[in-house]
Amino acid sequence: MAIFDIILSDLICPRCNICGEFEIEAFFPSGNCFTYQVGDSIINITRNKMPPKGIYEGYAECPTCEKDFHLLVYVENCKIDSIEINQNKKGYIE
Ligand SMILES: [Zn+2]
Repeated sequence: MAIFDIILSDLICPRCNICGEFEIEAFFPSGNCFTYQVGDSIINITRNKMPPKGIYEGYAECPTCEKDFHLLVYVENCKIDSIEINQNKKGYIE
């Protein structure tokens, strides 16, 4: 079972184009149910190595259209640098 962190961020839903705050599940190696915002440093209390730079999977469901989408989470200098919608990976919910 994967333990993920949450990133709260304003986004435009790629499925219904509504703008709002989304809860993004972020799959960092250090995943431990923390809640972050873009710009926050990643807290690692696990034994898993967390490199200072990397790109990680993100996943969100839209509270408005109830459809899902994938994101890419960019980490730089151990901080959440930016997130973007992953256009190359389809959501699970049709
Ligand atoms: Zn939506």
